[in-house]
Amino acid sequence: MEQTYDLHSHSTASDGELSPEALVLRAKDNGVSHLALTDHDTISGLAEAQITADKVDLTLINGIEFSCSWNKKTFHIVSLNIDPSNAKLLTGIESLQSIRTERAKKISQKLEKKQIMGAYESILAASATTMITRSHFADFLLKNNYVTTQQGAFDTYLGQGKPAFVNTEWASLEDTLHCIKAAGGVAVLAHPMRYKMTASWMRRFLTAFKAEGGLGMEIITGRNNPDEVRRALHFAKQFDLYGSVGSDFHSPKNKWVELGRLAPLPINIQPIWQLFH
Ligand code: AMP
Ligand code: MN
Ligand code: MN
Ligand code: MN
Repeated sequence: MEQTYDLHSHSTASDGELSPEALVLRAKDNGVSHLALTDHDTISGLAEAQITADKVDLTLINGIEFSCSWNKKTFHIVSLNIDPSNAKLLTGIESLQSIRTERAKKISQKLEKKQIMGAYESILAASATTMITRSHFADFLLKNNYVTTQQGAFDTYLGQGKPAFVNTEWASLEDTLHCIKAAGGVAVLAHPMRYKMTASWMRRFLTAFKAEGGLGMEIITGRNNPDEVRRALHFAKQFDLYGSVGSDFHSPKNKWVELGRLAPLPINIQPIWQLFH
């Protein structure tokens, strides 16, 4: 049977719109055979996703998308095939939970200076998760008519350099990769072309990533053009990384990004899923 991989997706356990159950069902409907649920800094959706995956005969890959800091820049590391019961992983997640909670409170305080009151409390009360992201704030601002689009919330309040932006020190790259390896996972650099780095910074980052045991890079993501695919492929081959494919699906409302609707991985790179079997 043909296999269709989608190795990057979000549920209500972080900033996705669908419950883990609904996400798995949608993936199945779209013909995905192997789905990784990779919520931001949490594994709390995996158990529910696994129950549904078993029912519909879909292979669930236990994942998480870690936020980490390297040279004062934020990177997202998708971690695949982790053991969700690993103690080191759970400690790392606990630490990210407190970073996110503190940050969310600070974002809320900054919004209050702009006369936008009670964002954090309101978000927490309305969410199925405690792992609060800027997407939650964007939704809050949209719902309460402070902005007219999600993007507008980032452009006006939440983006870098905007009034409610909070500079955040996540876990280090070293600690993040340590944690992933301890949990038996495979580390993949998420959406490499979204960091807007120069080629020389990208090479410095990838040198560090490789040195700490990073193994893969997303080549095909939800919204990338052929030029971005070509550039990512070039870096991946230069650093001898495996290639991954993931939509980064968050919501059915985004008509441009759909589970399992992805270009095939170019044939001249080894697929990351070779490492799973
Ligand atoms: P955080 O990790 O809390 O900084 O939140 C990052 C999340 O916000 C990303 O995973 C996206 O889902 C979303 N996001 C970041 N930048 C934008 C943007 N410019 N427009 C819409 N969503 C964004
Ligand atoms: Mn997100
Ligand atoms: Mn990301
Ligand atoms: Mn993501």
